[in-house]
Amino acid sequence: IRTQARVIYDSRKNPQRMLGTVLDITRSKNEQNRKDEFIGIISHELRTPLTSIKAFGQFLHQQTLNSKDETSSGLLQKMLSQVDKLNVLIQDLLDVTKIEGGKMKFHYSDFDFNKLVNDVIEEVQVTTFKKIILTNTAGNVTIPGDRNRVEQVLINLLTNAIKYSPDSDRILVDVHNAEGSVICSVTDSGIGIAKESLPFVFDRFFRESDERSHSFPGLGLGLYISAEIIHRQNGKIWVTSTKGKGSTFSFSMPLHHPPA
Ligand code: ADP
Repeated sequence: IRTQARVIYDSRKNPQRMLGTVLDITRSKNEQNRKDEFIGIISHELRTPLTSIKAFGQFLHQQTLNSKDETSSGLLQKMLSQVDKLNVLIQDLLDVTKIEGGKMKFHYSDFDFNKLVNDVIEEVQVTTFKKIILTNTAGNVTIPGDRNRVEQVLINLLTNAIKYSPDSDRILVDVHNAEGSVICSVTDSGIGIAKESLPFVFDRFFRESDERSHSFPGLGLGLYISAEIIHRQNGKIWVTSTKGKGSTFSFSMPLHHPPA
């Protein structure tokens, strides 16, 4: 049941009456649950054959490398990178159904935040010609959190920065300390985001509506999932951006567990 109420005042600001609505949303909730369940099943089923395709592709790729067949090896490498993209899409869909069903789990441990940033940059750097430049003033930071999930957020911000800045040749990453937290920012000099869109970029399925933005592939799920991951660990995530100039996406993670 969803309820809403509003008080109507007279000209002297005295309350006169109250208007209310009571809406039974059971049906639409059930429909939503069924949809999420359906997406969950499909995503799961897609993942299994894709894992085989990737394994066979890797095997063939190795063979073409051994036989120095450069054309085939180049094509297979492209195929494998498309398989990786599909895997990320499927993983995103699975994550969304987990979030909606309240089933996204976090595995906490203390981890070295700088090492994570370095590892992610190294991993993403091999996929792009743009130079990823790191400035780090945070010193040693060990923080509690789900390392894999935080890694997922940073990979997502970096791949977005690369994707949405086709005409620039570098991405900046900054790590610094703030009161009780560590902050990581990713800055690109790309297409930027319209001011009116900024409040919505972390919403599920949100994508900028202009033609230019739509020329880049995507489902509008990465930032929604990233925001959930950071918020669930008591961090914050935000963006500053200027259309046509570029964007900075930042997130903070607390240095300590919140008191129980
Ligand atoms: P996707 O990139 O798959 O569409 P995201 O949730 O990662 O989904 O991003 C949502 C939307 O926010 C994008 O469609 C794009 O319009 C905008 N956006 C995200 N990152 C950037 C960026 N670095 N520069 C410009 N626009 C961005």
